[in-house]
Amino acid sequence: MFLTFIGGAGTVTGSKTLVEFGEQRLLVDCGLFQGDSDDRARNWEPFPVDPASIDAVLLTHAHLDHCGYLPALVREGFRGPVYCTLATSQLVAIVLRDSAHLQEEDAQWARQKGFSRHADPRPLYDTADAQRAIELLRVKPFNQDFELFAGVFAEFEPSGHILGSSVLRLRETGVRARTVVFSGDLGRPAHPLLVAPHPPADADAVVIESTYGDRVHQDLSEGMELLASAITRTIRRGGTVVIPAFAVDRTEVLLKAIKDLEDQQRIPPARVCVDSPMALATLAVYRAAIDARAPEFRSEVLAQGSSIMDLAHLEQARTPQESMALDRGGPKIIISASGMAAGGRVVHHLKALLPDARNCVILVGFQAFGTHGRALQEGAAQLKIHGQYVKVRAEVVDVPVFSVHGDADELLAWLRSAGVVPANVFVVHGELGSSQVFAKRVAQELDTMAVVPKAGERIRI
Ligand SMILES: [Zn+2]
Repeated sequence: MFLTFIGGAGTVTGSKTLVEFGEQRLLVDCGLFQGDSDDRARNWEPFPVDPASIDAVLLTHAHLDHCGYLPALVREGFRGPVYCTLATSQLVAIVLRDSAHLQEEDAQWARQKGFSRHADPRPLYDTADAQRAIELLRVKPFNQDFELFAGVFAEFEPSGHILGSSVLRLRETGVRARTVVFSGDLGRPAHPLLVAPHPPADADAVVIESTYGDRVHQDLSEGMELLASAITRTIRRGGTVVIPAFAVDRTEVLLKAIKDLEDQQRIPPARVCVDSPMALATLAVYRAAIDARAPEFRSEVLAQGSSIMDLAHLEQARTPQESMALDRGGPKIIISASGMAAGGRVVHHLKALLPDARNCVILVGFQAFGTHGRALQEGAAQLKIHGQYVKVRAEVVDVPVFSVHGDADELLAWLRSAGVVPANVFVVHGELGSSQVFAKRVAQELDTMAVVPKAGERIRI
């Protein structure tokens, strides 16, 4: 068995690992590169192997940086099945349609305004490509082995990151028997809605993410206090709170946190607006999955039912006109995608709201290098949005406690939970420094071999 790290090596986006068994080829995750223009340019490079030669794709979860390249792969000739869990298939359909739409919109916007470096900017893929990719999705249940080709089996196990997310186990039987476990994105044992990640037992090798490989998350109660105080002072001074949030999962986790703060009367009553058609569609998938008693939810969530996310003042912005109207009027909380303000409607809100010191931006997740979110996190005095500079006068508050990625201690605890420590650990999906710090800790504390593979590196297991 050979692994080639095509994306997500030394970076947090573009996750893709090619797995080869003799003549057979699999792709584990098929993510889009996001971030600055150099990162995004990597989506346009020719794929390292002929996409038509790949027999199947396995998706660990529905985030864009794990599934968002799929329509491009299909456009370049891939025709095989794409295996994933039920909720992942539902969320991937939402995410890919939205992504195609955004790419078409951005290309058109750039063409109209003329701020692209290209004379005729084109989308990486369009809605028809996304639709063809969605038609290739094949659902597999959690915790059940299925045969991919003779002697090669796969299994999805819950990873506690987002609804439907999985740890993927690949097993080759026979004389060259080997098992490799891919962490996908690893959730936190304390996710408010989902069960803890499944341990990587009996693995010869583990491929593990390291988004927070060099950090330990703040305490939850401390984070809730930061969120409560930032919302309270913004609403009291007549400002608007903007929270860039991944439409998938982060919006759900935030709505629950805001509901808890309201119920405990720790924030004043305020309009809460979810401004992302994708977040609203995702919310419906979460509600339906809770009501269908999906296996990845915590028992207390299932006991309470989908009312766990009901907010008294929840408003929904579906059309662009409703979205634009949110930047006017009185104090409110706007939750809008994308989570790193790398694109989407939240960028328009930032453009309108950043120049007013009464407003506040709350960052609740990882902000990759090169994104507007990262610039705000690092105290930028101005942002260049749609070709124009915008003055940052609004308050910026960082509350990473809402991350749905495990921190360094939690990642290490997950590796330990295997019982027998895997002999090979490959550390991916982190900025290079973070991956290196984590690999060093794994090597020292677990006394095993831990490597940060280079982009494009091929390794035999
Ligand atoms: Zn993810």
